Amino acid sequence: RRPGKVTALAGGVGAARLLRGLAPLVARGQLTIVVNTADDDVFYGLNVSPDIDTVLYTLAGLSDPVRGWGIAGDTFQALEALRGYERDAWFQLGDRDLATHLFRTERLRAGTPLSQITALQTRSLGVGARVLPMSDETVRTIVETTGGRRSFQEYLVRDRARETVRSLTYQGARGAKPAPGVLAAIEEASVIVIAPSNPLVSIAPILAVPGVRQALRRAEAPVVAVSPLIGGRPVKGPADKMMRALGVAPTPLGLADFYEDVLDAMVIDTADRAFVPKLGARGIAATCLDTLMRSLGRSTAVARAALTLGASVREQRNLAS
Ligand code: GDP
Ligand code: CA
Repeated sequence: RRPGKVTALAGGVGAARLLRGLAPLVARGQLTIVVNTADDDVFYGLNVSPDIDTVLYTLAGLSDPVRGWGIAGDTFQALEALRGYERDAWFQLGDRDLATHLFRTERLRAGTPLSQITALQTRSLGVGARVLPMSDETVRTIVETTGGRRSFQEYLVRDRARETVRSLTYQGARGAKPAPGVLAAIEEASVIVIAPSNPLVSIAPILAVPGVRQALRRAEAPVVAVSPLIGGRPVKGPADKMMRALGVAPTPLGLADFYEDVLDAMVIDTADRAFVPKLGARGIAATCLDTLMRSLGRSTAVARAALTLGASVREQRNLAS
């Protein structure tokens, strides 16, 4: 049974792992992916949207399975040459990957909104899902660390998330508008999936765009999150460290508290099955399975679990009303 319209909220690598399993389960044209743009930045004069690129490359079958970011088999000659001028070129961009940023930058400078550029790139790469940036306006995650104020990529990539986070701000979020289609995709969905992305820096910025949280709260569709944590630890990246530093427990319960009133259900790892009754007590339906998506097969299983959980929440609601 096809799930109807599905809308996903996504960051980068964790999201992409789920989406490669989810996309084939949804009929063509029925999947909308709303992607975080708060870790976008300008490098070497080029506009880079890391999460959009990771999602697009993955769905196009181009992504590097080991690194998780960039294009498989890409080379880094341009970056090497750049290092001849600017020794400290710490943000890596592959040679083929550069084409994506050149195209985006040129169009942005000509005044084309990011959402339209992304639509063109989605089509050119042969991706069947609709990929929307959360906003066409600039939003930037700023990380205050014990060492000072950092852009998100400085914190994550340059400083390898070594510094302790004091606070996060999503600069520009309050004045931003959801990109065209974002609110409608939330309203019209039959299931909404929050990908297993970093809640603080991938999902929270999307929720911070005015109107998004409210649309999720009002949506008819159940909102199902897939946990990025397995036994209290992320598969990759600093999510647990950041969560602890900001007073969010790195557990399914902490995640449920963080997503608060937008959340209806959660897919968690078998390692965390003790949380199922605790989530239930808060009105959050939960299922568990092995959520480590090391293969396409695992991605499919986790995506199917999220859709099934969403459908069962919907059925129970229908019974109750
Ligand atoms: P980024 O923007 O590229 O850093 O990626 P995201 O924010 O989308 O994803 C980062 C999160 O993905 C981390 O917290 C990881 O724990 C999570 N993640 C990565 N791979 C997997 C996986 O196979 N299973 C689960 N459950 N989470 C994963
Ligand atoms: Ca990201």
